[in-house]
Amino acid sequence: MKLHEYQSKDLLSRYGVPVPGGDVAHNAAEALPIAQKYGGKVVVKAQVLMGGRGKAGGVKLFTDSQEAATFAGELIGKRLISIQNPQGMIVEKVLVGEQIDIAEEYYLSVLTDRAVAKVVVMISKEGGMDIEEVAEKHPDAIVRLHVDPAWGLSDYEIRAAVTEANIPAPARNQMVSMIKQLVKAYLESDADLIEINPCAWTPEGKLLAADAKVSIDENALYRHASWSETQEDSADDPIEAEASKRGIAYVKLDGDIAILGNGAGLVMCSMDEVRAAGGRPANFLDVGGGANAERVKACMELILMDKNVKGLMINVFGGITKGDEVAKGILAAFDELQVSFPVVARIEGTGAEAGRKLLEGSSLVPAETMQEAAQKIVELAYS
Ligand code: GDP
Ligand code: MN
Repeated sequence: MKLHEYQSKDLLSRYGVPVPGGDVAHNAAEALPIAQKYGGKVVVKAQVLMGGRGKAGGVKLFTDSQEAATFAGELIGKRLISIQNPQGMIVEKVLVGEQIDIAEEYYLSVLTDRAVAKVVVMISKEGGMDIEEVAEKHPDAIVRLHVDPAWGLSDYEIRAAVTEANIPAPARNQMVSMIKQLVKAYLESDADLIEINPCAWTPEGKLLAADAKVSIDENALYRHASWSETQEDSADDPIEAEASKRGIAYVKLDGDIAILGNGAGLVMCSMDEVRAAGGRPANFLDVGGGANAERVKACMELILMDKNVKGLMINVFGGITKGDEVAKGILAAFDELQVSFPVVARIEGTGAEAGRKLLEGSSLVPAETMQEAAQKIVELAYS
C-alpha cells in the first residue's frame, strides 16, 4: 500500500528523519493559511500515488501565499499524467510545504533485495528527478548496502557506503543518521519501500527529506490498522485497480495471451508454457482456492477489460476449486459477456469430468495437458 508523501513524511519524522514543515490541503482556502505560515515561500505538491509529479507539473515553488493557494485550487481536480503513469490520476489534495533551498540532491532508498533475501539501502549522489536514468546509464553511481538480518547495520558500514557514494564529507554524519532512521522505520512499519528523492542538502548544511515515498507491505497491513484505514486506489493500472477492489490476484503484463488458473504456482507454470509455445502472457491471474462460478466470471470480466488480449488459456487443477464450478463461471461469461477471442481450457482434478461435460458444445477448445493448452491457444490466437 503506497502512502502519500505527507503521510510518509509524518511517519518518517516520528523516527527522527528531518523533513520540511507543511500540511495537506483539499482546496485553496485550506492552502492559504498554511502558505502564510511559511511567509508564502512554499512548494505546492500534488498528493497522488504516482511518481514523476515534478515533470508532470504537479510540483511548483512560490514566494507568495495567495499565488500558492490559487495554484493549489487549480491543481486539485486536475488529472496529472506522468511517464510512470500514462493514464494519470486525479489530484484530490496537495501538500503545501515549507520551501527549502537546495544545493544538492541525493538519493536514498530502502527496499528488500529478494535475490539475497536482505534489506538493502541504496545511496546515490545523483538524486533528483532522473534517478531512473542514472540507474540505467550509470548503475555504478548507486551504492548498495545490505542489512544483515541478525546484526543490522553498524555505523562504520554505513559511513563507508556513504563515502563510496561520494557524498561530500560535511553531509556524511547526517546521512548516516538518516539511513539508520530509515532502516528502523522500514522494519518497524513492515514497509516494502522507502524512497527519499531528493534527499536535499541545503546551503546551510542541513540534510532533509524533501520528498518521501513509503509503501507498506499489504500482507502486514493488519498490523497497521491506522494506515489501512486510509488506503486509496493506487494501482498504476486500471485493471489491477479493479482486481484489487474485487480481491482478485491479477497482475497486468504486456503480452496478449490471457491466463486464468488456480494457484499461483500453476498460473506461473502456465505463463512459462505460453512463452515456451511462442506466446506472450497478457496477465497473471489466480482465481484462488475454492473459487465459485461467480468469481470465475468476475475474473473473465477483468480479462475482457484488457484490449490487447487475443486469446485465453484456462488452466485449472481441481481440488478445493471444483472443475464444474469453473465451467459454470466460464459458461456464464460466454453467455453474458462478449468473448470475441479463442479460449482453450485444460481442466483436471476434482469435478473435471463434470466440468468438461458442461463445456461440451460451447465454443471453448478443450486440451488434455497444460502444454497442449498453451500450444493450442498460441496457434489459435496468432492465426
Ligand atoms: P516527484 O517529481 O514526484 O519525485 O516530486 P519531488 O517532490 O521530488 O519534486 C520534484 C522536484 O522539485 C525536486 O527534485 C526538487 O528539485 C524540486 N523541489 C521540491 N521541493 C522543493 C523545495 O522545497 N525547494 C526547492 N528548491 N525545490 C524543490
Ligand atoms: Mn521525488
